[in-house]
Amino acid sequence: MLIILKPDATPEAIEQIRQTLQQIAYNVQQLNDHPPVIFQASADGLPIDTRMLEGNPAVERILTEQPPYKLVSRAFRSRDTTISLGEITLGGGKPVLIAGPCAVENEAQIRETARLVYSRGVRLFRGGAFKPRTSPYSFRGLKEAGLKLLQKVRQEFGLYVVTEVLDPTDVPLVSEYADILQIGSRNMQNFALLEAVGRTNKPVLLKRGMSATLTEFLLSAEYILQAGNEQVILCERGIRTFVEYSRNTLDLNIVPMVKEISHLPIIVDPSHGTGRRNLVIPLALAALAVGADGVMVEVHPNPPQALSDAQQALYPEQFVELTERFQQFVKNNP
Ligand code: PEP
Ligand code: MN
Repeated sequence: MLIILKPDATPEAIEQIRQTLQQIAYNVQQLNDHPPVIFQASADGLPIDTRMLEGNPAVERILTEQPPYKLVSRAFRSRDTTISLGEITLGGGKPVLIAGPCAVENEAQIRETARLVYSRGVRLFRGGAFKPRTSPYSFRGLKEAGLKLLQKVRQEFGLYVVTEVLDPTDVPLVSEYADILQIGSRNMQNFALLEAVGRTNKPVLLKRGMSATLTEFLLSAEYILQAGNEQVILCERGIRTFVEYSRNTLDLNIVPMVKEISHLPIIVDPSHGTGRRNLVIPLALAALAVGADGVMVEVHPNPPQALSDAQQALYPEQFVELTERFQQFVKNNP
């Protein structure tokens, strides 16, 4: 690892960095006396925890070993990737909202939700026709009939549809109906599926696996880019921890961390992240505060009747409140 100091680093700052390095590495060597001073540090092949040096005003740059991902990294492309759908731009600095039910259930439910979403100025509409369910006895979606219902409201209201694809063989079918293909948490490491969506020209919303590290998450995105599709949106949706009061723990740390190391947009899903409708608005606002490019939520005209994820679906009134507070945030943070 190389630590390159600022040309104007004072002798005191250089000495302080040397001492810090001696705490976190075994072998520390100053390579030169002239500015910019460069230190070389190693720990006999073990990784060095550089957090002690983060934000140090005398440090210009830290060069660690090459990360295993390439195409998704800022080293490969420094400017942010943006994804455009008509008048909507994801990743352009202005956060966007994606909303809709967990699952497409029937025509009345999907039309009523679409009307609500549209009336609040939201143009990205989510809804699963192919549902990955933990139990094979749960409602697993209307499949192609569900895609057809999505197409109806897409045309009727002029919405853009985000919907999940579960199997590589379904990618051509789902691509006919989707504006954005969703890869769910349970499929984040389904490499055949990642390659299949990577061969399409549709934007892909890639959800973080529920126990995936940041590196694993980025490597999954790398599969899609490597297959030729650069339009990838990352989505933090909560990870498994020991907590029992919420379905998952929303890892908001990952948002500014991704921004530092990757050019891809990242959105946050506080519905699956919490599993509780009353936590969705506060966590949606928290996601905006940490710099997310968007938020995706589940909303249902009659949550207690929802065929999946009933506890986390927002009531229409809650959704209206969310859109008001979302718009307020965007207005106050241009
Ligand atoms: C979903 O968004 O419909 C979904 C199934 O979420 P996840 O894959 O994050 O569990
Ligand atoms: Mn759901």
